[in-house]
Amino acid sequence: MPNLTRQTQVIGRFAPSPTGALHLGSLLTAVASYCIAKHAQGQWLLRIEDIDTERCHSHYSKQILTDLERLGLHWDGEVRYQSEHLAHYHNLLDTKLNTLSYGCDCSRKSIQHYCQLHHCLATNYPRICTHKHLPRYHAVRLVLPDHCVLFYDQLQGIISGNPQRDHGDIVVRRRGRVNQPGMINYMLAVVIDDADCGVTEVVRGADLLEPTVRQITLYQQLGWSVPNWLHLPLALQQNGLKL
Ligand code: GLU
Repeated sequence: MPNLTRQTQVIGRFAPSPTGALHLGSLLTAVASYCIAKHAQGQWLLRIEDIDTERCHSHYSKQILTDLERLGLHWDGEVRYQSEHLAHYHNLLDTKLNTLSYGCDCSRKSIQHYCQLHHCLATNYPRICTHKHLPRYHAVRLVLPDHCVLFYDQLQGIISGNPQRDHGDIVVRRRGRVNQPGMINYMLAVVIDDADCGVTEVVRGADLLEPTVRQITLYQQLGWSVPNWLHLPLALQQNGLKL
């Protein structure tokens, strides 16, 4: 008898930013994501999130790999380095997301000034540049929808948010130099990476619960299927601060 139920392979991942050595908090994420993937006979991928060249260092990347191996947390396949996929992120933003994004030359100060004049909240970008058609070496903002987005987190339960009301159109690429685009935002890179690698389970710290609604919006705008989410409690210091 053929098995008619479609089996999807579980693919988990660990995605540290090499801004320092692994600490207890990141190890907790590594172990939990590893166990969830392996318990389901799935794959566990490793991605080094090193696009922020000011904060990330290759010696930390090397140290992270060594520590994971030493602890027996062996990843499947090749390590993916975000810094090797920059052209791909820019290309997707300028093609698939082109009509949903726009150049913006506002500064924090000019937004504040505008909001004082128009009595609006400076925390949500008031779409000053939407119709200006500015070149895309300026900061690029993504149009976020004004409706409720719901998702189920396997540990935190049902989470909801309204991307437009909570944040307004977010910057997905920072301001660059003339004819040279700036740095891609973490939010966009993570979604593209997870989708490219077929990640089905995103297991990470609860500090990243908050941006998840915006990431789900990105999946929807790109027409990609949304993974399962599990946000772990953070390991805190005695004073309650994140490690
Ligand atoms: N690179 C992020 C961090 O180290 C994690 C990103 C993610 O898991 O989505 O906090």
